[in-house]
Amino acid sequence: TIKTRFAPSPTGFLHVGGARTALYSWLQARANQGEFVLRIEDTDLERSTQEAVDAILEGMEWLGLNWDEGPYYQTKRFDRYNEIIAKMLEEGTAYKCYCSRERIEALREEQAAKGERQKYDGHCRDQAPRNTDEPFVVRFKNPTEGSVVFDDHVRGRIEIANEEMDDLIIARSDGTPTYNFCVVVDDWDMGITCVVRGEDHINNTPRQINILKALGAPIPEYAHVSMILGDDGAKLSKRHGAVSVMQYRDDGYLPEALLNYLVRLGWSHGDQEVFSLEEMKQYFKLDDINKAASAFNTEKLVWLNQHYIKSLDPVYVAKHLEWHMADQQIDTGNGPALAEIVTALAERAKTLKDLAASSRYFYEDFAEFEESAAKKHLRGVAMEPLQLIQKKLAALTEWTQEAIHNAIEETAAELEVGMGKVGMPLRVAVTGAGQSPALDLTMLLIGQARCEQRISKAIE
Ligand code: GLU
Repeated sequence: TIKTRFAPSPTGFLHVGGARTALYSWLQARANQGEFVLRIEDTDLERSTQEAVDAILEGMEWLGLNWDEGPYYQTKRFDRYNEIIAKMLEEGTAYKCYCSRERIEALREEQAAKGERQKYDGHCRDQAPRNTDEPFVVRFKNPTEGSVVFDDHVRGRIEIANEEMDDLIIARSDGTPTYNFCVVVDDWDMGITCVVRGEDHINNTPRQINILKALGAPIPEYAHVSMILGDDGAKLSKRHGAVSVMQYRDDGYLPEALLNYLVRLGWSHGDQEVFSLEEMKQYFKLDDINKAASAFNTEKLVWLNQHYIKSLDPVYVAKHLEWHMADQQIDTGNGPALAEIVTALAERAKTLKDLAASSRYFYEDFAEFEESAAKKHLRGVAMEPLQLIQKKLAALTEWTQEAIHNAIEETAAELEVGMGKVGMPLRVAVTGAGQSPALDLTMLLIGQARCEQRISKAIE
């Protein structure tokens, strides 16, 4: 079975580039009834933080990218790495290198002076084991002939001559294993059949393949995903606005919108733009990932967000809206069910943040009427319709959309004015503003008591 993994280094939040890699890897597993592993690559103790681990897990959970195994932590696996290093030393696929820093430096300078590629010269490679206390590093015995070939799902066939690679350090002089080595042992131990990762790792792949071969481990498939660029063509960074997945939550995006946006950013299936998770799983193929870098386009993300706010089950959208209501300190305990707010306001909302902000008057009384709206619609002549509708509303025995609608209509008819002459002052009176969803629905949701109070206040 197919087994993939996402292996972030916890040195910061989960950014959109990482999230897209995670999504592709996750889809490759989910599209093939495979398994998905989460592995935290935290061996860089100086740059890794618990905060970053938490942020990554939070981002993955918010996106719904669930994992079948893990999270594994590399820092908890040092015994295993050391075990393999000992085994490789014993088998002769790795060796101890006693070269001093000075020697390595001198070698580098010499190579640089000759305009040669800088690489370790294999000085200690074939020396007999020494019986000494001198410090050493452990190097992998990279093959010196032939080449490494792999068929990348995104970039096609890649071939690197072994000659171009030197003997990689797999354990430092303090005994700690190095990054590329840990990845290899992990991918092997975890049974990873397919590695999906950023193209910045492509130079590591031939080295990793050689080590896997030396261990007698199966070689996984690879897909190296291109970078994401900002709208100005530069590598996407904070300067372009939000890059953290959780910032998109805070800004009012639904995970469905971000996932749909990210899947299309570098992958396509015909000219389809909107993909449910089910469709993604159905159609996703690594081979359809674009090789070219993709540019981030916030407008398209907004468009998708609007689409999902309007089309997903309002009860589900309401769950996400809840976070924003709390964030904006709107107490939803006293007012309509949030799902009804979603239904009423979805058509106008670009983000859940906006939606929350524009729903405040359903839950809280406002201190002031919006100035321009009040000036226009709550002047003297507007008071007559307000007074009449106030009476009609007070007399209603049932508070339904239809009853409210009829009351407005009757008021307009009795005063022989257009609906707008009743509707606009009424809207400003009950919502405080000049714009709202359909007035009868809006009033239904605000509730009879609140509407009556607000109308009285407007008439005062
Ligand atoms: N830890 C690496 C990163 O965060 C990923 C390595 C890999 O996927 O092999 O960039």
